[in-house]
Amino acid sequence: MINVEKLNKSFGNLHVLKDVDMTVKKSEVVCLIGASGSGKSTLLRCINFLEIKDSGLVVIGGEKIEKETHDLNEVRAKVGMVFQHFNLFPHKTVLENVMEAPIYVKKRPKEEAKVEARALLKKVGLSDKENVYPSKLSGGQKQRVAIARALAMKPEIMLFDEPTSALDPELVGEVLATMKELAEEGMTMVVVTHEIGFAREVADWAVYMNEGRIVEVGHPKQLFSNPKEERTKNFLDSVL
Ligand code: ATP
Ligand code: MG
Repeated sequence: MINVEKLNKSFGNLHVLKDVDMTVKKSEVVCLIGASGSGKSTLLRCINFLEIKDSGLVVIGGEKIEKETHDLNEVRAKVGMVFQHFNLFPHKTVLENVMEAPIYVKKRPKEEAKVEARALLKKVGLSDKENVYPSKLSGGQKQRVAIARALAMKPEIMLFDEPTSALDPELVGEVLATMKELAEEGMTMVVVTHEIGFAREVADWAVYMNEGRIVEVGHPKQLFSNPKEERTKNFLDSVL
């Protein structure tokens, strides 16, 4: 589903991604961990072309994606992304937030987009909030709206960049539960998170990144309890 090969990305003199290789099969869930600045967000952003790689391959659904040959908006529709800060439109209601991209990007008829948006809000448990503005929602509710909004584009892959790290601890569970449900339905997901419990329970495998390189890949139970690499072990000791 996702195949990244020898991916390199620099910002000026800063070499952020160094020959990164990663393969994610359909319906797999991968959790990505690593210190601040190790390149996790940049890797996700290169996968959906919010950042353009310098070199290497990004293959999505068997198709080699290049900015020269592909409509990057189509790529971004196929690869949904949820961010740490929800970036909802503050002047639109919850329902309008979810309907926005299908109508304006995919040119879907408004009534159809509304029916689908309502179904997605039901799925994330927010049917009763459709006419509310984001400022009236809790952080966990905002993040669930952000997930519904990404799903409205019918993505084949979902990327999550620390979706719960801006939330109060008591709100983390509801967002992780929504993500777990999505995983159980077979969504292909790459999740940057330090929620090790979630990773152990939901992820098919875990990846530890350090200074722009993938240092270790393993089954979550193995990687978190019995890492092979000294650097992974040191990192886990520092966060757990
Ligand atoms: P965090 O855990 O703090 O989110 P991260 O692993 O997601 O960290 P990235 O955001 O990918 O790390 O950043 C990797 C490095 O690239 C950092 O040193 C960061 O300052 C730098 N960087 C990221 N985006 C840009 C940009 N647009 N311009 C310049 N430097 C950038
Ligand atoms: Mg980041």
